[in-house]
Amino acid sequence: MMKGIAASEGIGIGKVVIIKQQEIKYEQKLVADVEQEVERLHGAIDTFMKNTEALAIDMEQSVNAKDAEIIRGHMGMLSDPFMISQMEDTIKNEKACSETAVETVLEMFKAMFAGVEDELIQQRVTDIEDIKSRLLKILLGIAETNLKALPPKTILVVNDLTPSMTAELNKDHVAAIVTESGGMTSHSAILSRALEIPAVLSVADAVTVLKDGATVIVDGSDGVVIGEPTDSELAEYEKKREEYLTNKARLRAYIGKESLTADGIKKDVFCNIGNPKDAVTAKEKDGEGVGLFRTEFLFMDRDSVPGEQEQYEAYKKVCDTLENKTVIIRTLDVGGDKEIPYMHLAKEENPFLGFRAVRYCLQNTDEFALQLRALIRANADTTGNLWIMVPMIASIAEFKAVKQMIVDLAAELDMPVPKVGTMVETPAAFVMADRLAHYCDFFSIGTNDLTQYIMVADRGNSNVAYLYKTYDPAVLRAIRQIIVTGTEAGIPVGMCGEAAADPLLIPLLISFGLTEFSVSPTSVLRTRAEIARWTKEEADRITEAVMALDTADEVYECLVKSVKG
Ligand code: PEP
Ligand code: MG
Repeated sequence: MMKGIAASEGIGIGKVVIIKQQEIKYEQKLVADVEQEVERLHGAIDTFMKNTEALAIDMEQSVNAKDAEIIRGHMGMLSDPFMISQMEDTIKNEKACSETAVETVLEMFKAMFAGVEDELIQQRVTDIEDIKSRLLKILLGIAETNLKALPPKTILVVNDLTPSMTAELNKDHVAAIVTESGGMTSHSAILSRALEIPAVLSVADAVTVLKDGATVIVDGSDGVVIGEPTDSELAEYEKKREEYLTNKARLRAYIGKESLTADGIKKDVFCNIGNPKDAVTAKEKDGEGVGLFRTEFLFMDRDSVPGEQEQYEAYKKVCDTLENKTVIIRTLDVGGDKEIPYMHLAKEENPFLGFRAVRYCLQNTDEFALQLRALIRANADTTGNLWIMVPMIASIAEFKAVKQMIVDLAAELDMPVPKVGTMVETPAAFVMADRLAHYCDFFSIGTNDLTQYIMVADRGNSNVAYLYKTYDPAVLRAIRQIIVTGTEAGIPVGMCGEAAADPLLIPLLISFGLTEFSVSPTSVLRTRAEIARWTKEEADRITEAVMALDTADEVYECLVKSVKG
């Protein structure tokens, strides 16, 4: 069994076709007539543009207009006057042939992008490599590998899948894709997802280990490739494949639908995101809003705090992407398990009980004000549906201090005050929920932390994992009380911890009166389908049985019987 990155879900079973990268060889000739050579270069660029446009039109028909833009992006890059003039200059100044000019200039661009640590910019390196090899093939008269003619049930195995190769694939004939390089956000991964072809990327030595014509199983949901499977493995994965396809067809019925219980009670299924790119996925996956934007991800993998303008642009982008839908943005939740090295937080004996999140922000108000101003401005410059959410509130004094800062900053900016609410994820916030609700515009229950603090069991420590269970009656009672208290106070109550997407817990959450379920984008349709299974009366019946139990194990067994049975 080989492991890789689960880049596009689904299961493919078929026969391996290995596509080896052709080595492009040419002689670095000096040319006598530079004008003629420049014309030859332009001829090749014109052919590239025509071929690429044809590929993009094909893609628009087979996939969609948005994904065809990735291929059109290559045309945009090769239209860059600076890039073209650099190639022309190489020919004119060095009497170089077009092949050398293309190679020299595109390698220079690659090196420029390769040094930047941004994932999106890194992606440009693959794009430029793709452009370079296609342009060289045109100049040298080398035919492109014909990926349109692959036999049915092909498992395509390739070193690196370029966007142009992906665009050419006949999706009905390719059962799955395996590559040796590429990541979750590479264009090839995006395109395989758009084509709905299961894909596992970055599988070490796939091209040498897998053999042409051999039967292989590819599980794009778990990132697993099984070469030479046994009969029982084949039978097991055939069954998994059938189940996956049936389930997918069932969930498709919920695309674009409202989230309603079986008796028509309206709920919202929102998404948890970590950056503006995720907002696009949230929209694609039919999220009805954003219930949690974990802004700490904007602060990670860099050397200093992102400035006000950079943060403003990120927040505005999310709101613009979601159009007029609600976007709940959480202020910085640093500390605990979320380390940001340049903030130099001291090592602590008990980081989860220490100097983190709002505690850090209220001691570093200049830095905090940058974020709050960016949020207030983004709200004012969009549809006004940006809500600010404060993490780790343990005392009403903390919430009031944050709210006061927001009111003062909004007055300075002469902009409206956005809605401000709190995560309820500490025992203190849960116990004080009735008072807290007076000051908050909304609650969102953070079950990941709430579970660890109620059970006094570190969420990352496997030795106490037997205690860290949201099914524990203690946690369920806390959740019920928070929802009931918030609802009685007339404020919306959502949940952005993992429990919101747990099919076993969904009937309980319906019965408690939760209105907003914030889940990962890939769980939106499943959550909507689970909500649609229950009437309030059925959910109440299950809840009554569950809430009479004493232990997490009893609750789990009862839920499995009532929900799955
Ligand atoms: C939570 O605690 O439930 C939550 C959603 O936040 P995080 O997992 O980021 O702590
Ligand atoms: Mg939390």
